Amino acid sequence: MPELPDLEVLRDNLTLRIVGRTIRGVEVYRTGLVRTGPDSIAVEGRTFSQIGRRGKHLIFSFHGGPHLIVHLMRWGWLWHGPASYPPSRATILRLALDDGFDLRLIEPGGQPLAAAWVVPDPATAEPLRKLGVEPLSDAFTWDAFRALLAGRRRPLKKVLTDQHLIAGIGNAYADEVLFAAKLSPVRYAHTLTEGEQERLWQAIPEALRWAIAEIKKRVGDGLFDKEVRDFLYVHGRAGNPCRVCGTPVGEILFDDQRTDFCPRCQGVNQPMRGA
Ligand SMILES: [Zn+2]
Repeated sequence: MPELPDLEVLRDNLTLRIVGRTIRGVEVYRTGLVRTGPDSIAVEGRTFSQIGRRGKHLIFSFHGGPHLIVHLMRWGWLWHGPASYPPSRATILRLALDDGFDLRLIEPGGQPLAAAWVVPDPATAEPLRKLGVEPLSDAFTWDAFRALLAGRRRPLKKVLTDQHLIAGIGNAYADEVLFAAKLSPVRYAHTLTEGEQERLWQAIPEALRWAIAEIKKRVGDGLFDKEVRDFLYVHGRAGNPCRVCGTPVGEILFDDQRTDFCPRCQGVNQPMRGA
């Protein structure tokens, strides 16, 4: 599933391609994709003004409104290419642009998860209203972060991936952040010392910015249809030697989600049971 760093690069690279372009046609191929009403997106004749992001949602804005919010969920991705290219069966939304190109939302696989909303104001829109703080924004202050952790009797992995607390971090980058902060994913948030809290607070934006730069190095201004993750330290590397200390990267399951960590660098010395 794309997370904040993937979406930031996608947002930048799509901006180059579609901002300033006008929509000439809209086709919604999947019933239920649009959560705000009928299976239609009334943006014909509208011109893209910008692409924003909030948490794991991309926000496509048009001059004079409205805003199209897209959540790619697990399998969704965005395709930009010549309109003459026939849409595949996995295409669930097609926006035809005035330059002969299409922007398409593709979701392969059987499970329909991707979602779209058409809203007059993203600030009050249903999927965004309840999101937590943006970790790359000025609002992610030391005080805000301490308040967020205070008394929270939950494992750090759960705190970091809770979109209502901090928006945009998922399974992969929670692992990377915790590795960078040298903290165990199973530590309970309320047990952190002030020094550990500060380390975590600093590691969150640092790890995310580092990832954005690494992804950009690899894709340039190109689009990509699956996450670029070969540079990660621990996530997806279970059993491989830690890039820092050589200890095999460990793995546990948290609610069916893989959590990868270095037992040595992150001080996880208790044997843990997987699911
Ligand atoms: Zn290590």
